[in-house]
Amino acid sequence: MTAIELVQGDITRQSVDAIVNAANSSLLGGGGVDGAIHRRGGPAILDDCRKLRASDYGKGLPTGQAVATTAGELDAQWVIHTVGPRFSHQEDRSELLASCYRESLRVADELGARTVAFPAVSAGIYGWPMEDAARIAVETVRAAQSAVEEVRFVLFDERAYEAFAAQLR
Ligand code: ADP
Repeated sequence: MTAIELVQGDITRQSVDAIVNAANSSLLGGGGVDGAIHRRGGPAILDDCRKLRASDYGKGLPTGQAVATTAGELDAQWVIHTVGPRFSHQEDRSELLASCYRESLRVADELGARTVAFPAVSAGIYGWPMEDAARIAVETVRAAQSAVEEVRFVLFDERAYEAFAAQLR
């Protein structure tokens, strides 16, 4: 059984085996969590991302999938990059968002990671309403069959923290 912890803070400051990045499909950096991870983790992460683009992911990482790189100077062994869907009023993309959590945990299992920190994927620049993003995150992690011992949701502000806390109550 995977234990779920909530922390309000900066995901780049977490000491865990793997930190999940809400990446964009280019894998070449962006704003939000992505920018923070590359800034604090240093150039080694981007080097690995470029290698992925030159090999298995020539067209980028598809939405809902996950892939690992080094964590550079972060206090973690790996960064697991996943691409959340942009929120859409026209189309229900919940399954793609759930897939981000499932696939990240699958990659964590392959790596042998025991502790994994997640941000609120898609709930920033990609516009997903926080309450719904929190529901999908918590439901998906609860239902996952994973050897990961602890999933730590790291929420940047109080509103995000409260949305996740409400799902755990
Ligand atoms: P997306 O493009 O998937 O929406 P963002 O990085 O824009 O990704 O935002 C995802 C969530 O991460 C938002 O709730 C945002 O406030 C939060 N966030 C931004 N920086 C950090 C950080 N350093 N640590 C944890 N969460 C962060």
